[in-house]
Amino acid sequence: MHYHILLTELCNSQCRYCYKKSMSEEEFDSNKLKKKFEFDFSAPAKSEVNAKKLRKFLEKDPDPTLVFYGGEPLLEIEKIKEIMTALKDSKCKFRMQTNGLLLNELPSTYTNRISKILISLDGTKERTDFNRGKGTYDKVMKNIQFIHKNGYKGEIIARMTISEHSDICKQVKSLISAGFTSIHWQLDAGFYQSDFNKAEFAYFVDEYNEEISKLVDFWIGDMKINNRVLLLYPFVAIIHSLLRNETSLLRCGAGHSGYAITTDGKVIACPIMNCIKDFEAGDLETEPWQLKKFQIKGRCLKCKDKDLCGGRCLYWNYANLWPEEGDDLICKTIHHLISELKRVLPEVKALIKEGSIKQKDFDYEKYFGPEIIP
Ligand code: SF4
Ligand code: SF4
Repeated sequence: MHYHILLTELCNSQCRYCYKKSMSEEEFDSNKLKKKFEFDFSAPAKSEVNAKKLRKFLEKDPDPTLVFYGGEPLLEIEKIKEIMTALKDSKCKFRMQTNGLLLNELPSTYTNRISKILISLDGTKERTDFNRGKGTYDKVMKNIQFIHKNGYKGEIIARMTISEHSDICKQVKSLISAGFTSIHWQLDAGFYQSDFNKAEFAYFVDEYNEEISKLVDFWIGDMKINNRVLLLYPFVAIIHSLLRNETSLLRCGAGHSGYAITTDGKVIACPIMNCIKDFEAGDLETEPWQLKKFQIKGRCLKCKDKDLCGGRCLYWNYANLWPEEGDDLICKTIHHLISELKRVLPEVKALIKEGSIKQKDFDYEKYFGPEIIP
């Protein structure tokens, strides 16, 4: 199973879509969430999880993966070292989700054991710096070069947040030109209650869908020219299912195959649900297979694309922060994504048949970070 460990609530970045909204009084004071869920804010800001106790818990899982997560996990380098030292010689695998600004500060003996790292980058230097602050792009790219120079051989996934701009094709292409072959993106939609604007979002969705069509064509074109499958996670995962005729549960894994460990050692369905009691699944004394399971409900149960989509996001599905018409627009992007991938499936099959690419090129590790459905 995959466990995100919340090392700190603090962050050293002030991204437009995260900091501004999560600090807004409107979000805090309006009572929609408070009415819906029970909160407990007693957990400390920084992880006080005992590393030996964590090891004991993870040892009961036959295939554990620990994902360092925050806030910004690299603000807690000593804790990362403590945990990785306690888990030395265990079968636990390590992953991390970071903004990359402090990547150069973790000694390479630790970094090189973290075999997949998701790094927040939104595309071009201009876009990344616009969202995340001037100088961010150069600093992060420098840090990526630094870890490579120090022997890092793992996978680096550029994790984009798509908010007010919908030119995703251009942004993904710029990351590919910068050397990334693994890319994931998430739409900043439906996670706060005060940011829905029907006209603006409807316009965004139409443009975004057009861009997704362009990006799918670019992806297939790249397969033909370069005989490779770029790991654009939302595309790869859905094609993987289509090739095998497989259905999928909630693709991020939250509440069925993935959990988060809070700073006080509770186990919850996913990191975003920190402090919400309704999503508690157990604690470090719980046997991993006895952690409470959560299932998608509501609109997804009667959706034609449920078996391929899986339900987008457990938190979004339970919290219902946007009005129905907003969620309809979000789902419009998902239906479009799925239908575009179905459109190119025959081409993918033909490329596999002629040997330009292999079916196993669409294999990917589930639940370590990319949520798959944007
Ligand atoms: S497309 Fe929308 S309604 Fe359908 S399963 Fe996905 S999230 Fe649920
Ligand atoms: S998609 Fe939603 S439920 Fe899944 S990990 Fe992300 S925030 Fe959590």
